[in-house]
Amino acid sequence: MSNRTWTCVACRKSYRRVQTITSVKCASCHGPCEYVHWKIRVPSPKRPKDWDAFWTKYKAEKALLDAYYRGELRQDVTLELLNMHLYTQREKKKRGKSA
Ligand SMILES: [Zn+2]
Repeated sequence: MSNRTWTCVACRKSYRRVQTITSVKCASCHGPCEYVHWKIRVPSPKRPKDWDAFWTKYKAEKALLDAYYRGELRQDVTLELLNMHLYTQREKKKRGKSA
């Protein structure tokens, strides 16, 4: 069994944990850590500009993905980091839910 790398964005720290663990709290700030797919290259925390840009983008893409799963996505989007394409027309929606 291999390990996963979890990252605390705020502290710029990474934690290696076995794959069976589904959530990790940061040892420094006790905030929830992010798990990033191994295919996604995370910039070095020694380059704060790249780091911040990456995580801003990553979180935006995750938010879009969440919206997609909730059926709230209004337009097709491409998630570069996650390497996904989300199409709103994939499922036919008959009724427009008023939210
Ligand atoms: Zn932290």
